[in-house]
Amino acid sequence: MTNLDNLKSTFSQKLDQTTQQYKTRLDAEFATLRAQYRRPLTAALPADIARRLAGADERLNTQQAAARQGMGTAQPLLNLQDDDTLAELDRAFAHKFDLGRYYPLERLAYPIVYCESLEEFFTPIVESLHLSAQARQATLQAMAAEAAAQAEKYRGGGTFGYNLAGVGCYLNGWLFAYGAEQSPRLAFQTPQRLERILATAVHEKLGHGFLEVYSALGEVKNKLGITMAETARRFGYLAADNPLDSLRHDQAVLLNRASSLVEEGWATWVEAFLPAQVSNAQHAHYPLEAVLAAIANLPADTPNRQELHDDLLGALGLLFMDEPVPPELLLQAVMIVNFEGGSYDDYFQGKLGQPLRYVIGDLLLVQAEGNLGPLCLPYAALIAANITFDPQGISLSDLREMLFSKPNLNPDARLAALSRMRLETPNHVPELARRAEAELSFSVPPELKR
Ligand SMILES: [Zn+2]
Repeated sequence: MTNLDNLKSTFSQKLDQTTQQYKTRLDAEFATLRAQYRRPLTAALPADIARRLAGADERLNTQQAAARQGMGTAQPLLNLQDDDTLAELDRAFAHKFDLGRYYPLERLAYPIVYCESLEEFFTPIVESLHLSAQARQATLQAMAAEAAAQAEKYRGGGTFGYNLAGVGCYLNGWLFAYGAEQSPRLAFQTPQRLERILATAVHEKLGHGFLEVYSALGEVKNKLGITMAETARRFGYLAADNPLDSLRHDQAVLLNRASSLVEEGWATWVEAFLPAQVSNAQHAHYPLEAVLAAIANLPADTPNRQELHDDLLGALGLLFMDEPVPPELLLQAVMIVNFEGGSYDDYFQGKLGQPLRYVIGDLLLVQAEGNLGPLCLPYAALIAANITFDPQGISLSDLREMLFSKPNLNPDARLAALSRMRLETPNHVPELARRAEAELSFSVPPELKR
């Protein structure tokens, strides 16, 4: 074996070992959760749920367009001819949402770096792994070789960007230029490619990065050391000496499962919204129709197909039906989407282009956009993610109990409830903060109440 192969197999062995060790305890927690969310939904739902949902897209679109009107006249935010486009993204975001009125802007003051080689792209990750100088070099080469092989195998697939809050947001210019017979530098100057580059930067930094530096949940995740370890894990690498002990790893898995609609929904929505401000266009979102079709056409050999179909359809009914839904049922609905939908990521990815939780998360943000106004959305995401606990002092079963049995402590269920609240003055953050507290009994970040 070469030095590289050696290194890679050591990494994957470690990964297998720790994964196995974690799995057993988590399986027990997931079994408890499954019993909890598989209670029948039918009693709470009208019989004609499919028909009602069929009209939901139109309602979402109409409300979205109306809420936009209250946003004021949009001016092009970015000058795409400018070499400083990436640095301008933060400024445009802060300006559009009036961020400085509520929070210090410095927390976003770290660079977006367009990397022109794989080595450059992976260097910040490798540097964070605390390796010897020699191992660092070999790891870097292994990561670059692995990424090149992935791109070849999946015809240009791979990781386009990642965010290390406070350090940098890194974009994979090599991959953006892949297959185009042009240099990464030139790809940056090609309008269609630049559009994807900007969308990726926004998703990573102003989507996930924003929640990491401004939300209570982001602070907990930082304390758990999740973000760094998860980023390394995304590339198939664990730090040589695993920075997460197994309890913290399991806590991290539960926490990510409780907040994936908030994380991916917000990141997916803002990724479409902000670049669309450049051209002053109405941004696209996933049609609910397409989701209903994907659910109706689950493959014939899906285990418990009818049950799964009914549960997913019922969950969508609860989330997007135009009538009041009790918080306990919103919690049940987001759990079905996360856990049951999450078992069919490949299927939904194939049908919709993204796993189900991204699509449903985005649709919840669109529903919120129509009801709250687009300018309230970063703050609605922060209110949804305004839960906190001391990771040192909580056992795994207590954390499971906290996140998944009380709707007010589950970030995704909080988002679902917020998305249904209708503001009298759309785009008015103080009204959002006041009513989230008064009507939903949510804890609200004090910054938003000023
Ligand atoms: Zn994401």
